Amino acid sequence: MPSYFIWTIGCQMNKAESQQIAGYLNSAGYQAATSFSSADLVVLNTCVVRQSAENKVLGTLGLLKGLKDKHPDLQILVTGCFVNSHTQELQQRFPHVDLLFKPGDYPELIAWGERRGMPVEQRLLRYPRNDGRMAFSPCALIPIIQGCDNFCSYCIVPYRRGREVSQPVGEIVCEVAELVGRGIKEVTLLGQNVDSYGHDLQGHPDLADLLNELSSIDDLVRIRFLTNHPKDMSLKLIETISSLDKVCEHLELPVQSGDNDILKAMRRGYTVERYRELVQIIRSGIPQISLSTDIIVGFHGETEEQFEHSLSLVQEMKFDVVHLAAYSPRPGTIAWREYQDNIPAEVKKERLNKIEELQTTIASEINSQLQGREVEVLVEGRKKEKWFGRTRSNKLVFFEDAGDRLGQLARIQIEKTSPWSLGGQAKK
Ligand code: SAM
Ligand code: SF4
Repeated sequence: MPSYFIWTIGCQMNKAESQQIAGYLNSAGYQAATSFSSADLVVLNTCVVRQSAENKVLGTLGLLKGLKDKHPDLQILVTGCFVNSHTQELQQRFPHVDLLFKPGDYPELIAWGERRGMPVEQRLLRYPRNDGRMAFSPCALIPIIQGCDNFCSYCIVPYRRGREVSQPVGEIVCEVAELVGRGIKEVTLLGQNVDSYGHDLQGHPDLADLLNELSSIDDLVRIRFLTNHPKDMSLKLIETISSLDKVCEHLELPVQSGDNDILKAMRRGYTVERYRELVQIIRSGIPQISLSTDIIVGFHGETEEQFEHSLSLVQEMKFDVVHLAAYSPRPGTIAWREYQDNIPAEVKKERLNKIEELQTTIASEINSQLQGREVEVLVEGRKKEKWFGRTRSNKLVFFEDAGDRLGQLARIQIEKTSPWSLGGQAKK
């Protein structure tokens, strides 16, 4: 049997798409390999959101060139946000790559496979499914809306992933029901902005409508979704989260900056005041909510005072998790065309460290409140001789148990907490 190896970096959407590609390759008679060097076909699923990610892609492409020189039959496929509209130019730059296809462009992948005589089941022609033949996890990632219409000034995603296209409610419900039939207990619905879901569909269903439909699938235990956009999140959605038992109390709500002028230059479409008000409404409607956010430091012209506004917002909001990034200019974006990258790298690093330090203290305090408490964990796998899984609020929990707990809901008494994870004993 020929074999494949998929290398994935970047967001959850990339992870979901790698599972879909694996589903296609499995259906075409391939089996998974454990490394580049043991595979007949390699897929690079790439990210270029920051220069550091792009550098990793370039490094891996260089490594694969060496491998292909030694094994000329090796097939190399590249997808993800590295693939721009100028595929011919990219092809000339990287002649050792056999196929470049845009994120989610499965017709291109399948046509390539067909030219090479790879059989494809008819039902896979529109988009391949995660077929569960990769290592089993009780949690599945389900893309519900592709692309982004927002054009935040720093962001390359809309240029690489195109405009928003939602998947119809009925198709998502069928897919989730099928996955649940195979043992999946939790789904995470994915979109660059899940609050835009459905505006392009007949009847304009929204995320709240989709959550209601999915909630009625028996044996589906948990539903999550990401990412929300502070300018678009609706009261209807907040009420729906609070009323549906299966929807977990966790939100990813990126603020990006705590300064109104920076938010304006980023084209985020909201102010700090609006963000604060939204968080108040969320917290009063869903008291158990855990909140994650994203912050970029060192955006064009960010003064020390403007940075302090981000720092004090982090202090005030008490997020559970903060994903931090130093501004990285991305060719073709509005900020790249109109602004300078004028904050020195060492200042960006200092600012990152300051927020990181503050957030570590905050997360440590929040998590320590779980000491001695009992939490429910959906067990996802094993790492270093321990089982691990997540609480409904997305806290990572480790515990020891001699039995097979994969896919089970376990009650864990928390004995150890840190800013990043929790540890405890399974209750019998
Ligand atoms: N759609 C989500 C949103 O509205 O925030 C996030 C998608 S983006 C691919 C993921 C994160 O990468 C962003 O939240 C932002 O913090 C970070 N990011 C995007 N472009 C960046 C850039 N040019 N420099 C640094 N960080 C960036
Ligand atoms: Fe990028 Fe903004 Fe779209 Fe998120 S909402 S993907 S940050 S353009």
